[in-house]
Amino acid sequence: MPSQQHPYQTLPIPNDAPFTLKPSGPSKGWGAFATRRISRGTVILRERPLFAIPKHHTAITSSDVLSALRTSSPTTQRQFQALRDHHATLPFPNPAKAFAENSFAIGTDTHSPAHGFFPLLSRFNHACLPNAAVPLLKDADAPALYATRDIAAGEEIAFSYDPRFESRTARERHASLGFACGCRACHPPGSRFQRASDLRRRLIRGLQFMVSGDDDGEERFHVIAEPEVRKQVAECRTPLSVLLVCNLLTQCLMEAEGILDDFEIGRLQPGATAMAKMLRRPENARIARFAMAQRTPNERLRVAFALYGRADEGDEEMAYTLRHIQGVS
Ligand SMILES: [Zn+2]
Repeated sequence: MPSQQHPYQTLPIPNDAPFTLKPSGPSKGWGAFATRRISRGTVILRERPLFAIPKHHTAITSSDVLSALRTSSPTTQRQFQALRDHHATLPFPNPAKAFAENSFAIGTDTHSPAHGFFPLLSRFNHACLPNAAVPLLKDADAPALYATRDIAAGEEIAFSYDPRFESRTARERHASLGFACGCRACHPPGSRFQRASDLRRRLIRGLQFMVSGDDDGEERFHVIAEPEVRKQVAECRTPLSVLLVCNLLTQCLMEAEGILDDFEIGRLQPGATAMAKMLRRPENARIARFAMAQRTPNERLRVAFALYGRADEGDEEMAYTLRHIQGVS
């Protein structure tokens, strides 16, 4: 390797890839930039991990990394070494840190966490308002990066490093990332958009809790504090009409935030459609049908608000379904 060549220039980018790697900015290091126009939905890169460690990222030590490397191919070892040397700021570069900076969680089983080494995917910067996404549930073995909107030639391609960020404030995201992101949802702090973004994401977290009973585990992330409401959610007693409005409001907030991509629609919309169909009372069912026939999330929400809080014969069926999904006895 010629000494003047940057280690990232030795990474094997597929010939037909629509991106190149180059310096992104003084504080961001390198990033990936579109070399041509990329349409929404296009696969930008599919990458298999060069090696994986079957542990949660917080538990991975340097000796885990070194022993995984010992059984890897010479090419993998060279790539890891090049990235490790480049990141080294200490006299003795730390293999666990080099691995952490170039790895992502893989697999869908939360009981057997694993992290894979992805030299190319790791070159894409993070953005809380991204133009691309890596939906891990979709391609667990070889994660792919998809354009979530049309990307212009020359534009930087970035994705959100953690799906939970959609319901976390800028301060919480930066604490988790270990650096301050420069996207519009983060910077400048206190701007009108940034404050609205924090509010939207907190609301999204509260709504997620109402629908799924999950508010990110840790109490400091809880938005809904009222014991009565938390009890109602835990016992799956929230009326169907409220759940439907929560789902549609989540979609509206995500759209206003600029993060309602096709994957999020695919995740949320089937739930809304199913809930609308579960309403049994003729008047409720009629409003729900009319709401779901509207074109945009905002229009659907505006109609569905008329349902909010109404009791329905479908509530029991919904409670049964939720208890089954959430494993509540
Ligand atoms: Zn950001």
